[in-house]
Amino acid sequence: MPSLAYSPDPTPDPTPDRTRLTPRAYLPDIPVSELHKFLFDGLPVRGIIVRLTDAWTEVLQRRQRDTSTGPWAPEVAELMGQMAAAGALMQSNIKFNGALVLQIFGDGPVKVAVAEVQPDLSLRATAKVVGEVLAGARLPQMVNVGNQGRCAITLDPRDKFPGQQPYQGVVPLHGDRMEKLERLSEVLEHYMLQSEQLDTKLILAADEKVAAGLLIQRLPVEGEGNLAGSFVSSANEDAIGVNEDYNRIATLAASLTAQELLELDVDTVLRRLFWEEKVLRFAPQTPRFACSCSRDRVSSMIRSLGQQEAEDILAERGDIEVGCDFCGHQYRFDVVDAARLFTSPGDQPPVPRAVQ
Ligand SMILES: [Zn+2]
Repeated sequence: MPSLAYSPDPTPDPTPDRTRLTPRAYLPDIPVSELHKFLFDGLPVRGIIVRLTDAWTEVLQRRQRDTSTGPWAPEVAELMGQMAAAGALMQSNIKFNGALVLQIFGDGPVKVAVAEVQPDLSLRATAKVVGEVLAGARLPQMVNVGNQGRCAITLDPRDKFPGQQPYQGVVPLHGDRMEKLERLSEVLEHYMLQSEQLDTKLILAADEKVAAGLLIQRLPVEGEGNLAGSFVSSANEDAIGVNEDYNRIATLAASLTAQELLELDVDTVLRRLFWEEKVLRFAPQTPRFACSCSRDRVSSMIRSLGQQEAEDILAERGDIEVGCDFCGHQYRFDVVDAARLFTSPGDQPPVPRAVQ
């Protein structure tokens, strides 16, 4: 029997969980997603390259199967893939035990876009699209029509102490002269320069099969990069833009085209770009799709609506149905389930045999 106690911590879904099925079980021809970290021997420069394959197609297929939304327009899918790849790069670039949530709050047809990556590189993504996205639309036409769009990076610790709020940094989708930025990579480069004072080069690309990214970053002079600005110092600030090794490697990285990033394997990309550099590789990691939704979390959401609202929905529709925007899982609460949500564990009535 599921517990009535609400837990804010991620809890395993008590229902049979199709969100944790590995896509390879039914898509054997799709390669496993991979993320590789590397260093340039003796130079203050690090890099990460990510190729989301099965993890990305799983996101797309779940959206496609969700009859309440249908699939994303290709332009939105491209943005979501870039966000997922960027989220994986940023999560793996910090030492942090909690979710990294990359969000865009748009003022155009795409109202909200979210990519969330856990420390083990499990990820999920969703977007709320309210208007028509025209063919060929880019970042400004999708999320920054009136130059009011924002990008937020949230670090949500897994083990919070009482009252602790997640860290959040926000940047606009325009440059210093109010010019609308055409690419998500520019927005995030700006963010990392602002929050970490670290020169960063990002290349992002996505299509219907692959979401990929390359990050090249100058190592901090002091401390470690952490996206939260804790190591901001004049030494780090003074180093912005002046490191010759970083500048050379970033220029090489910038020559990588989106098509090359999508089509070439990791070894080929690194060899072609950095064949004159001494690259030290780390063991690869495996990003995957996973959703952290659960019946407990949905229960607590229904409780927050209040009993009257819940009863109104039940009177109108017979049961309360809540779909997860990230994975498409449907949670259903009938009259008995709903009544239990609003009964404190202390004075719980006996539960009829049929629903145990
Ligand atoms: Zn879910």
